[in-house]
Formats: sequence, structure tokens, C-alpha cells
Amino acid sequence: MIHFQNVGKTFTTPTGPLQAVSSVSLKVEERDIYGLIGFSGAGKSTLLRMINLLERPDEGSVLVNGEDLTQLSLRELRKRRLSIGMIFQHFNLLNNLNVYDNVSFPLEIAKVPTEQRKQRIEECLEMVGLLDKAKTYPAKLSGGQKQRVAIARALANKPKILLCDEPTSSVDPQTTGSILASLKEINEKLGITIVIVTHEMNVVKAICNKVAVMEHGRVVEKFNLRESNIAPKSPIAQYLFKNEI
Ligand code: ATP
Ligand code: MG
Repeated sequence: MIHFQNVGKTFTTPTGPLQAVSSVSLKVEERDIYGLIGFSGAGKSTLLRMINLLERPDEGSVLVNGEDLTQLSLRELRKRRLSIGMIFQHFNLLNNLNVYDNVSFPLEIAKVPTEQRKQRIEECLEMVGLLDKAKTYPAKLSGGQKQRVAIARALANKPKILLCDEPTSSVDPQTTGSILASLKEINEKLGITIVIVTHEMNVVKAICNKVAVMEHGRVVEKFNLRESNIAPKSPIAQYLFKNEI
């Protein structure tokens, strides 16, 4: 479903070139909940953002359903992006719009007719258990509720893929649980493939079936978490599995 082939990305910085991602090859299969874990600066967000081409790889290619998005016209790219939802650490809700209108926003961009919008918005809010908050503004919601609104908004255009960049990093452990439960439910019920960036192994263990450990722009080890004996070889993977931070 998502295939990274020898992908690399170098940023130009005032202190010279910085290789954020180097020689990453990785396959995310349909219905995976695939974790990307590593310390700060490992290249996790850059790799994630290459899936919907928020970052362009400058080496190798990323295929989404067999298609190289760099080859598409801007118009086609915009269409493909509608089938890839994204959520962030700080929720990125529109604070001047209520919950209902936040979820409506991507539908308006996709030019979904008004009469179809209402039903879709309600379905999405129902999915994350927030239908009763439709008229509430983000300022009146808890962190977990805000993230679930962001999930509902990301689902509005019926994406096949959901990208999550540290979705639980700014909430407490209990709230983390409610967000992860919503993600797991949409993966199971809607068959949505999820790629989730985190630095916490407990997040990976709670919902992922696969994980890639990143360090200095590289994937140093990959694990299928459904296998019974997981034996990390690299020091960083050993550390992450042992400490479960
Ligand atoms: P964190 O856990 O802190 O979010 P990360 O693993 O997501 O880290 P990235 O954000 O992918 O890491 O960054 C990888 C490296 O690339 C870092 O050294 C970062 O400073 C650098 N970087 C990322 N984006 C840019 C940019 N737009 N311009 C310059 N350098 C960048
Ligand atoms: Mg990041």
C-alpha cells in the first residue's frame, strides 16, 4: 500500500546540508497500524510527511498504491491527498469554528454538496463518540476530545490512509488511551491503514502490528509485533523495548 524505496531527504540549513532521511526502504501493507519510533531528530516526521508529499524525497521513491505521487500534476496530487488523512501532536483545529464546522471544512474543500455533508459529519463524529459536542468550540474541549475531533475531521473524506504525527504526545496517559482506542477502532471497523509516529514504545505496543526503529535518518530495525519472540539487536531498539518509554 505504501512502499518506500531507498528514500532520502536532505535539508539545506544555515550550517550546511542535513540528511534527515537516508536510504529508507519500508513496506506498509493495507490495514497495518505501522509505528515509526525513534528519538527527537531521527527523521520520523520527515518520513511520514513524504507519504502525502508534504516533503518531497530527493532520493528514491515513495509509492502509494503503486503510484509515485511526485509524477502527478498538482491537481491530481490534491485529489490523492484527500484519500490520506493526517493528525498532529497539537491537534491543529480551527479555533474559531465549532466541532461540526471543523469536520465540515475538508468536505467543503472537496466540494461535497451541502445536503451530503451533514450526514457525513454526523457519521464521523459518531465514530469518535463526540456527536453531542457538535456545537462546542475547541477551547471548551479536553485534549483527548480535541484529538478525536481531529480524527473525525481526518476521516471526513473517507481516506484509505491516516497519518498520525505524535498524536498522543501532548496529553496525559489516560487520554492517550482514549485516542489510541479511537485509532484502533477506525483501523478495525473502516479498514483504514495507519502510520503513526511516536517516541513512546507503550503507544506502539498498544496498537501497532509493525514498527520501524529510526536513528539518524535511517531505519535501523523493523519488527512484526505479532511474532512471539521479539529480539532487538540494535542498542536503540533494545533500549526502547526495555524501557518502554
Ligand atoms: P521529533 O521527535 O523531534 O519530532 P523527528 O524524528 O520527527 O523528531 P524530523 O522532524 O523528521 O525528526 O527531523 C529530522 C531532522 O531534519 C532534524 O535534524 C530536523 O532538525 C531536520 N529538519 C526537519 N525539517 C526540516 C526543515 N524543513 N528544514 C531544515 N531541517 C529540517
Ligand atoms: Mg517529529
